[in-house]
Amino acid sequence: MNRRSFLKAMATLPLMSAAFKASERMPVLFLGHGSPMNAILENEFVQGFRHVAARIPRPKAILCVSAHWETDGTWVTAMPQPRTIHDFGGFPKALFDVQYPAPGDPRLATQTQELLEPTRVGLDHHWGLDHGAWSVIKHLYPKADIPVLQLSLDRRLGAEGHYALGRQLADLRDRGVLIVGSGNMVHNLGKVNWARLDEIYAEDWAMEASDRMKSCILDGDHQTLLQYTKQGKAFEYAIPTPEHYLPLLYTLALQRPGEQIQLFNDRPVAGALTMTSVQIGM
Ligand code: ZN
Repeated sequence: MNRRSFLKAMATLPLMSAAFKASERMPVLFLGHGSPMNAILENEFVQGFRHVAARIPRPKAILCVSAHWETDGTWVTAMPQPRTIHDFGGFPKALFDVQYPAPGDPRLATQTQELLEPTRVGLDHHWGLDHGAWSVIKHLYPKADIPVLQLSLDRRLGAEGHYALGRQLADLRDRGVLIVGSGNMVHNLGKVNWARLDEIYAEDWAMEASDRMKSCILDGDHQTLLQYTKQGKAFEYAIPTPEHYLPLLYTLALQRPGEQIQLFNDRPVAGALTMTSVQIGM
C-alpha cells in the first residue's frame, strides 16, 4: 500500500466504524399486548409481532418494561431462570399451560442497574416474566432462546421520571439489547365492550386519543405525551390509570434525533383498547 492509498484508507476508517456501529444498534419497540389470549391465538396482531422479529437484527438479550410490573422503586429481574407468571384470572387452562422458559441474564441486570445510577435500582430474584412480557415476546422469539429481563415501573414516578430513566438505557441498544415497552396506548377496561371483544372498532373518544397520540409520536412531540394528564377528556378516558401507557414513554425516550419511526398493529379493539405498536430504528 502506498502512502496515498494508506491515507485514503485511514480517512475512511472513522466513517466505516460509525456505519458499523449504526448497523449494530438495536431498534426499540413498543408492543400493544391487549388480551392475554393473544398469547395463544392466531390473528393479525401476532402476525405483526412475528413480522417485526423477522425484519430486525436478532438481539443478544431483551429488556422489557411491562405494564404488569409496578413496584415501589425501580427493579430489574436478576435471576438466571425467570419463571413464567400467569398474572390473570378467568382464562382457559390452555393459557395457564403456556411456559416461556427464556433464560435471564444476571450480568446484564447489574449493567442495567449501573446505567440507571444515581437512581438506585434493585436486583429482583422473585418476579420473573409476567404476561405483559411473555404473551408478546413468545411470538417474536418462539424458541425462548434469548435472555429476557424485566424492568419494573416505579409507581412513585411521574411521566418525566419514567422518560428520564428510559433515556439512560440508550447504551444497551449498542450492546445488542432489544428494549421493549409492553402496554397499550389506549386502555380502558371499564369501557371495553366485553360482548364484542374480538371486534376491530373504537369509541369516538378512543379514536380521538389514538389519533392524537399517533400524531405526537410521528411528529416527535414527546412533550405533549409526557403531559398526558393535561390533554382533555379523550386522554382521560384512554389513560384511566397510567401503567399501560408508561411503557410507551420508555420506548420514545430512546429515539435518537432523526431516527426513523413506524407504527404497526395499528388497530383498535372492543371500543376501548388500541393495539398500536411502535418500532424505532431499523
Ligand atoms: Zn395488560
